[in-house]
Amino acid sequence: MKRYLMTPGPTPVPEKIALAMAAPIIHHRTKEYIDLHEKVREKLKKIFQTQNDIVIFASSGTGAMEASVSNILSENDKALVVEAGKFGERFSQLVSSFGAQAIILKKEYGDFANAQEIEDYVKKYSPKAVYMQACETSTGVFHPIDEIGKMLKEKYPEVVFVVDGITAVGCIDIKTDEWGIDILLTGSQKAFMLPPGLAMLSISEKAKKIAAQNKNKRYYFDILGELNAQTGHFTPAVTLVLGLNAAVDMMLEEGLGNVFKRHEFLAKAVKAAILAMDLELFAKRPSNSLTAVKAPQSIDSKQIIDIMNKFGVSISNGQGSMKGKIFRIAHLGYFYPPDVILTIGTLEIALKKLGIDKLGVGTKKALEIFVEY
Ligand SMILES: *Cc1c(COP(=O)(O)O)cnc(C)c1O
Repeated sequence: MKRYLMTPGPTPVPEKIALAMAAPIIHHRTKEYIDLHEKVREKLKKIFQTQNDIVIFASSGTGAMEASVSNILSENDKALVVEAGKFGERFSQLVSSFGAQAIILKKEYGDFANAQEIEDYVKKYSPKAVYMQACETSTGVFHPIDEIGKMLKEKYPEVVFVVDGITAVGCIDIKTDEWGIDILLTGSQKAFMLPPGLAMLSISEKAKKIAAQNKNKRYYFDILGELNAQTGHFTPAVTLVLGLNAAVDMMLEEGLGNVFKRHEFLAKAVKAAILAMDLELFAKRPSNSLTAVKAPQSIDSKQIIDIMNKFGVSISNGQGSMKGKIFRIAHLGYFYPPDVILTIGTLEIALKKLGIDKLGVGTKKALEIFVEY
Protein backbone atom coordinates (compact mmCIF):
# COMPACT_ATOMS: atom_id res chain seq x y z
CA MET A 1 0.00 0.00 0.00
CA LYS A 2 1.16 3.52 -0.69
CA ARG A 3 1.73 5.33 2.60
CA TYR A 4 1.48 9.01 3.41
CA LEU A 5 3.13 10.16 6.61
CA MET A 6 1.35 13.29 7.86
CA THR A 7 2.67 12.96 11.41
CA PRO A 8 4.80 15.47 13.35
CA GLY A 9 7.83 13.20 13.30
CA PRO A 10 8.95 11.12 11.68
CA THR A 11 8.16 12.95 8.45
CA PRO A 12 8.62 11.81 4.83
CA VAL A 13 12.18 11.49 3.51
CA PRO A 14 12.75 12.90 -0.01
CA GLU A 15 14.32 10.60 -2.62
CA LYS A 16 17.33 12.89 -2.89
CA ILE A 17 18.11 12.44 0.79
CA ALA A 18 17.42 8.70 0.76
CA LEU A 19 19.85 8.34 -2.16
CA ALA A 20 22.53 10.39 -0.37
CA MET A 21 22.23 7.93 2.51
CA ALA A 22 22.60 4.95 0.18
CA ALA A 23 26.27 5.84 -0.37
CA PRO A 24 28.83 3.33 0.93
CA ILE A 25 29.83 3.92 4.54
CA ILE A 26 33.07 5.83 5.02
CA HIS A 27 35.27 5.81 8.10
CA HIS A 28 34.68 8.74 10.42
CA ARG A 29 38.39 9.43 11.02
CA THR A 30 39.10 9.98 7.32
CA LYS A 31 39.66 13.43 5.87
CA GLU A 32 36.61 12.87 3.68
CA TYR A 33 34.32 12.47 6.67
CA ILE A 34 35.96 15.15 8.80
CA ASP A 35 35.50 17.64 5.96
CA LEU A 36 31.87 16.61 5.48
CA HIS A 37 31.12 16.95 9.19
CA GLU A 38 32.70 20.40 9.36
CA LYS A 39 30.91 21.54 6.21
CA VAL A 40 27.53 20.37 7.54
CA ARG A 41 28.06 22.15 10.84
CA GLU A 42 28.90 25.38 9.00
CA LYS A 43 25.85 25.13 6.74
CA LEU A 44 23.64 24.37 9.71
CA LYS A 45 24.48 27.82 11.09
CA LYS A 46 22.49 29.28 8.19
CA ILE A 47 19.47 27.11 8.97
CA PHE A 48 19.75 27.95 12.68
CA GLN A 49 20.25 31.64 11.74
CA THR A 50 23.20 31.96 14.08
CA GLN A 51 26.91 32.64 14.38
CA ASN A 52 27.01 30.22 17.32
CA ASP A 53 28.68 26.82 17.19
CA ILE A 54 26.59 23.77 16.30
CA VAL A 55 26.91 20.31 17.82
CA ILE A 56 25.48 17.15 16.28
CA PHE A 57 24.67 14.18 18.52
CA ALA A 58 23.79 10.66 17.46
CA SER A 59 20.53 10.46 19.41
CA SER A 60 16.90 11.37 19.10
CA GLY A 61 15.96 15.00 19.75
CA THR A 62 15.57 14.39 23.47
CA GLY A 63 19.35 13.88 23.67
CA ALA A 64 19.80 17.56 22.84
CA MET A 65 17.14 18.47 25.43
CA GLU A 66 19.11 16.48 28.00
CA ALA A 67 22.37 18.16 26.95
CA SER A 68 20.77 21.59 27.36
CA VAL A 69 19.94 20.68 30.96
CA SER A 70 23.00 18.72 32.11
CA ASN A 71 25.47 21.20 30.63
CA ILE A 72 23.79 24.33 31.97
CA LEU A 73 22.23 23.46 35.32
CA SER A 74 24.06 22.34 38.44
CA GLU A 75 22.32 20.64 41.34
CA ASN A 76 19.85 22.93 43.11
CA ASP A 77 19.96 25.58 40.38
CA LYS A 78 16.59 27.05 39.58
CA ALA A 79 15.21 26.79 36.05
CA LEU A 80 11.97 28.20 34.75
CA VAL A 81 10.15 25.68 32.56
CA VAL A 82 7.13 26.50 30.43
CA GLU A 83 4.81 23.50 30.61
CA ALA A 84 2.14 23.81 27.95
CA GLY A 85 2.07 20.18 26.89
CA LYS A 86 3.91 16.91 26.84
CA PHE A 87 7.24 18.30 25.67
CA GLY A 88 7.25 21.07 28.27
CA GLU A 89 6.67 18.35 30.85
CA ARG A 90 9.69 16.50 29.48
CA PHE A 91 11.88 19.52 30.23
CA SER A 92 10.61 19.61 33.84
CA GLN A 93 11.41 15.92 34.23
CA LEU A 94 14.89 16.44 32.82
CA VAL A 95 15.55 19.40 35.12
CA SER A 96 14.47 17.34 38.16
CA SER A 97 16.43 14.29 36.99
CA PHE A 98 19.64 16.32 37.10
CA GLY A 99 18.94 17.55 40.62
CA ALA A 100 17.96 21.09 39.66
CA GLN A 101 14.76 22.81 40.68
CA ALA A 102 12.07 23.26 38.05
CA ILE A 103 9.93 26.36 38.56
CA ILE A 104 6.94 25.56 36.40
CA LEU A 105 4.92 28.05 34.44
CA LYS A 106 1.92 25.90 33.68
CA LYS A 107 -0.40 26.62 30.77
CA GLU A 108 -3.48 24.68 29.86
CA TYR A 109 -3.08 22.37 26.89
CA GLY A 110 -3.74 24.46 23.80
CA ASP A 111 -2.58 27.71 25.42
CA PHE A 112 0.72 29.58 25.04
CA ALA A 113 3.01 31.56 27.35
CA ASN A 114 3.50 35.28 26.80
CA ALA A 115 6.51 37.50 27.49
CA GLN A 116 4.85 39.26 30.44
CA GLU A 117 4.20 36.00 32.30
CA ILE A 118 7.77 34.87 31.74
CA GLU A 119 9.06 38.22 32.92
CA ASP A 120 6.94 38.01 36.11
CA TYR A 121 8.33 34.56 36.89
CA VAL A 122 11.91 35.54 36.11
CA LYS A 123 11.60 38.60 38.34
CA LYS A 124 10.12 36.55 41.18
CA TYR A 125 12.38 33.47 41.06
CA SER A 126 15.63 34.63 39.37
CA PRO A 127 16.18 31.35 37.51
CA LYS A 128 19.51 30.53 35.91
CA ALA A 129 17.79 29.49 32.69
CA VAL A 130 14.43 29.46 30.92
CA TYR A 131 13.40 26.27 29.12
CA MET A 132 10.58 26.15 26.62
CA GLN A 133 9.40 24.86 23.27
CA ALA A 134 9.05 27.09 20.22
CA CYS A 135 6.25 24.85 19.00
CA GLU A 136 4.65 22.55 21.61
CA THR A 137 4.07 19.67 19.24
CA SER A 138 1.61 17.89 21.53
CA THR A 139 -0.90 20.75 21.22
CA GLY A 140 0.15 22.50 17.99
CA VAL A 141 0.81 25.78 19.84
CA PHE A 142 3.52 28.21 18.79
CA HIS A 143 4.82 30.34 21.66
CA PRO A 144 5.83 33.98 20.95
CA ILE A 145 9.52 33.13 21.15
CA ASP A 146 10.50 36.42 19.49
CA GLU A 147 8.91 38.58 22.20
CA ILE A 148 10.11 36.33 25.01
CA GLY A 149 13.66 36.20 23.64
CA LYS A 150 13.88 39.94 23.10
CA MET A 151 12.53 40.64 26.61
CA LEU A 152 15.06 38.27 28.22
CA LYS A 153 17.93 39.61 26.12
CA GLU A 154 17.15 43.19 27.07
CA LYS A 155 16.16 42.86 30.72
CA TYR A 156 17.73 39.63 31.96
CA PRO A 157 20.84 39.07 29.83
CA GLU A 158 22.34 36.73 32.46
CA VAL A 159 19.51 34.19 32.05
CA VAL A 160 20.25 31.33 29.65
CA PHE A 161 17.41 31.03 27.13
CA VAL A 162 16.95 27.45 25.92
CA VAL A 163 14.47 26.74 23.12
CA ASP A 164 13.36 23.31 21.96
CA GLY A 165 12.86 24.02 18.28
CA ILE A 166 12.28 20.42 17.24
CA THR A 167 9.18 21.30 15.18
CA ALA A 168 10.32 24.84 14.34
CA VAL A 169 13.95 24.94 13.15
CA GLY A 170 14.01 24.56 9.38
CA CYS A 171 10.32 25.36 8.86
CA ILE A 172 9.54 28.47 10.91
CA ASP A 173 11.57 31.68 11.11
CA ILE A 174 13.57 31.52 14.35
CA LYS A 175 16.11 34.33 14.59
CA THR A 176 18.44 32.71 17.08
CA ASP A 177 20.95 35.53 17.55
CA GLU A 178 18.55 38.43 17.17
CA TRP A 179 16.21 36.96 19.78
CA GLY A 180 19.02 35.97 22.13
CA ILE A 181 18.45 32.22 22.09
CA ASP A 182 21.44 30.70 23.87
CA ILE A 183 20.65 27.10 23.04
CA LEU A 184 18.39 26.18 20.14
CA LEU A 185 17.92 22.47 19.62
CA THR A 186 16.28 20.17 17.14
CA GLY A 187 16.15 16.62 15.80
CA SER A 188 16.49 15.00 12.39
CA GLN A 189 13.04 13.45 11.85
CA LYS A 190 10.91 16.59 11.70
CA ALA A 191 11.59 19.62 9.46
CA PHE A 192 14.97 18.18 8.42
CA MET A 193 13.22 15.41 6.44
CA LEU A 194 15.55 12.68 7.74
CA PRO A 195 14.99 9.42 9.56
CA PRO A 196 15.20 9.64 13.37
CA GLY A 197 18.66 9.47 14.94
CA LEU A 198 20.28 12.92 15.00
CA ALA A 199 20.00 15.77 17.48
CA MET A 200 21.49 19.18 16.80
CA LEU A 201 21.94 22.27 18.90
CA SER A 202 23.49 25.71 18.70
CA ILE A 203 25.18 27.19 21.77
CA SER A 204 26.07 30.83 22.49
CA GLU A 205 29.37 32.03 23.95
CA LYS A 206 27.54 32.94 27.16
CA ALA A 207 26.09 29.43 27.49
CA LYS A 208 29.50 27.92 26.71
CA LYS A 209 31.06 29.82 29.64
CA ILE A 210 28.34 28.54 31.93
CA ALA A 211 28.77 24.99 30.64
CA ALA A 212 32.52 25.20 31.29
CA GLN A 213 31.88 26.00 34.97
CA ASN A 214 28.97 23.63 35.39
CA LYS A 215 29.76 20.57 37.50
CA ASN A 216 26.70 18.46 36.82
CA LYS A 217 27.20 14.82 35.82
CA ARG A 218 27.35 14.17 32.09
CA TYR A 219 29.34 11.98 29.77
CA TYR A 220 27.90 11.29 26.31
CA PHE A 221 26.06 14.60 26.03
CA ASP A 222 28.99 16.85 26.89
CA ILE A 223 28.57 19.87 24.61
CA LEU A 224 32.02 21.43 25.06
CA GLY A 225 33.72 18.05 24.76
CA GLU A 226 31.93 17.51 21.46
CA LEU A 227 32.86 20.99 20.22
CA ASN A 228 36.52 20.40 21.00
CA ALA A 229 36.68 17.09 19.18
CA GLN A 230 36.60 17.47 15.40
CA THR A 231 33.78 15.06 14.63
CA GLY A 232 32.78 14.39 18.21
CA HIS A 233 34.27 11.96 20.72
CA PHE A 234 32.22 9.02 19.58
CA THR A 235 31.37 7.38 16.29
CA PRO A 236 29.12 9.86 14.51
CA ALA A 237 26.00 8.69 12.66
CA VAL A 238 27.89 8.86 9.35
CA THR A 239 24.95 7.83 7.16
CA LEU A 240 22.55 10.29 8.75
CA VAL A 241 25.11 13.08 8.48
CA LEU A 242 25.38 12.33 4.75
CA GLY A 243 21.61 12.70 4.62
CA LEU A 244 21.76 15.86 6.71
CA ASN A 245 24.17 17.37 4.22
CA ALA A 246 21.67 16.69 1.41
CA ALA A 247 18.78 18.02 3.52
CA VAL A 248 20.55 21.26 4.33
CA ASP A 249 21.46 21.71 0.64
CA MET A 250 17.81 21.21 -0.32
CA MET A 251 16.71 23.86 2.19
CA LEU A 252 19.37 26.34 1.15
CA GLU A 253 18.62 25.78 -2.54
CA GLU A 254 14.94 26.49 -1.99
CA GLY A 255 15.97 29.47 0.13
CA LEU A 256 15.19 29.67 3.82
CA GLY A 257 12.64 32.44 3.26
CA ASN A 258 10.81 30.29 0.71
CA VAL A 259 10.85 27.31 3.06
CA PHE A 260 9.18 29.43 5.75
CA LYS A 261 6.66 30.83 3.25
CA ARG A 262 5.77 27.34 2.02
CA HIS A 263 5.06 26.21 5.57
CA GLU A 264 3.02 29.34 6.18
CA PHE A 265 0.94 28.55 3.10
CA LEU A 266 0.41 24.91 4.03
CA ALA A 267 -0.67 25.88 7.55
CA LYS A 268 -3.00 28.55 6.20
CA ALA A 269 -4.71 26.06 3.87
CA VAL A 270 -5.08 23.37 6.56
CA LYS A 271 -6.52 25.81 9.09
CA ALA A 272 -8.95 27.31 6.56
CA ALA A 273 -10.07 23.83 5.46
CA ILE A 274 -10.66 22.75 9.06
CA LEU A 275 -12.68 25.86 9.87
CA ALA A 276 -14.68 25.54 6.64
CA MET A 277 -15.67 22.04 7.79
CA ASP A 278 -16.99 23.54 11.06
CA LEU A 279 -14.27 21.82 13.04
CA GLU A 280 -12.38 23.66 15.76
CA LEU A 281 -8.66 24.35 16.04
CA PHE A 282 -7.17 23.19 19.35
CA ALA A 283 -4.24 25.61 19.59
CA LYS A 284 -4.89 29.19 20.65
CA ARG A 285 -1.81 30.26 18.70
CA PRO A 286 -1.39 27.65 15.96
CA SER A 287 2.02 26.71 14.63
CA ASN A 288 2.90 26.61 10.94
CA SER A 289 4.41 23.15 11.41
CA LEU A 290 1.30 21.21 12.43
CA THR A 291 -2.40 21.75 13.05
CA ALA A 292 -4.19 20.25 16.04
CA VAL A 293 -7.94 19.84 15.62
CA LYS A 294 -10.66 19.03 18.16
CA ALA A 295 -12.51 15.87 17.26
CA PRO A 296 -16.22 16.52 16.69
CA GLN A 297 -18.39 15.82 19.74
CA SER A 298 -19.24 12.16 20.27
CA ILE A 299 -16.39 11.02 18.01
CA ASP A 300 -13.12 9.65 19.37
CA SER A 301 -10.25 11.01 17.27
CA LYS A 302 -8.92 7.45 17.04
CA GLN A 303 -11.93 6.54 14.90
CA ILE A 304 -10.97 9.21 12.38
CA ILE A 305 -7.31 8.22 12.48
CA ASP A 306 -8.11 4.52 11.98
CA ILE A 307 -10.23 5.16 8.88
CA MET A 308 -7.59 7.47 7.40
CA ASN A 309 -4.97 4.78 8.06
CA LYS A 310 -6.97 2.33 5.95
CA PHE A 311 -6.42 4.76 3.07
CA GLY A 312 -2.70 4.86 3.85
CA VAL A 313 -2.79 8.34 5.39
CA SER A 314 -1.23 8.59 8.85
CA ILE A 315 -2.06 11.49 11.13
CA SER A 316 -1.48 11.67 14.90
CA ASN A 317 -3.69 11.32 17.92
CA GLY A 318 -3.48 13.65 20.92
CA GLN A 319 -1.02 12.71 23.66
CA GLY A 320 -1.73 12.12 27.36
CA SER A 321 -5.06 13.58 28.44
CA MET A 322 -5.68 14.84 24.88
CA LYS A 323 -5.77 11.32 23.50
CA GLY A 324 -9.03 10.69 21.69
CA LYS A 325 -10.01 14.35 21.95
CA ILE A 326 -7.83 15.87 19.23
CA PHE A 327 -6.01 14.80 16.09
CA ARG A 328 -2.89 16.40 14.66
CA ILE A 329 -2.07 16.93 11.00
CA ALA A 330 1.59 17.66 10.36
CA HIS A 331 2.85 19.78 7.49
CA LEU A 332 6.53 20.24 8.20
CA GLY A 333 9.45 19.16 6.11
CA TYR A 334 8.89 17.51 2.74
CA PHE A 335 5.34 18.81 2.29
CA TYR A 336 3.68 20.56 -0.63
CA PRO A 337 0.10 21.56 -1.48
CA PRO A 338 -0.91 18.16 -2.96
CA ASP A 339 -0.02 16.53 0.37
CA VAL A 340 -2.48 18.79 2.14
CA ILE A 341 -5.18 18.22 -0.48
CA LEU A 342 -5.04 14.45 -0.14
CA THR A 343 -4.96 14.65 3.65
CA ILE A 344 -7.99 16.93 3.88
CA GLY A 345 -9.80 14.82 1.27
CA THR A 346 -9.14 11.64 3.24
CA LEU A 347 -10.25 13.36 6.43
CA GLU A 348 -13.53 14.21 4.69
CA ILE A 349 -14.02 10.55 3.76
CA ALA A 350 -13.41 9.51 7.38
CA LEU A 351 -15.87 12.08 8.70
CA LYS A 352 -18.49 11.04 6.17
CA LYS A 353 -18.15 7.43 7.26
CA LEU A 354 -18.68 8.63 10.83
CA GLY A 355 -21.86 10.49 9.90
CA ILE A 356 -20.53 14.00 9.28
CA ASP A 357 -20.93 15.04 5.67
CA LYS A 358 -18.37 17.65 4.69
CA LEU A 359 -17.35 16.07 1.39
CA GLY A 360 -15.52 18.61 -0.75
CA VAL A 361 -15.97 21.43 1.77
CA GLY A 362 -12.48 21.47 3.28
CA THR A 363 -10.72 20.45 0.07
CA LYS A 364 -12.47 23.23 -1.85
CA LYS A 365 -11.20 25.77 0.66
CA ALA A 366 -7.66 24.35 0.50
CA LEU A 367 -7.77 24.35 -3.32
CA GLU A 368 -8.86 27.99 -3.35
CA ILE A 369 -5.95 28.93 -1.15
CA PHE A 370 -3.47 26.94 -3.23
CA VAL A 371 -4.56 28.71 -6.40
CA GLU A 372 -2.64 31.64 -4.89
CA TYR A 373 0.48 29.53 -4.16
C1 LIG B 1 9.43 15.28 18.61
C2 LIG B 1 9.70 16.28 19.68
C3 LIG B 1 10.56 15.98 20.74
C4 LIG B 1 11.15 14.64 20.98
O1 LIG B 1 12.06 14.27 20.08
P1 LIG B 1 12.59 12.76 20.03
O2 LIG B 1 13.33 12.79 18.76
O3 LIG B 1 11.40 11.87 20.03
O4 LIG B 1 13.44 12.56 21.20
C5 LIG B 1 10.83 16.98 21.66
N1 LIG B 1 10.27 18.19 21.55
C6 LIG B 1 9.43 18.50 20.55
C7 LIG B 1 8.83 19.87 20.51
C8 LIG B 1 9.12 17.55 19.58
O5 LIG B 1 8.27 17.86 18.59
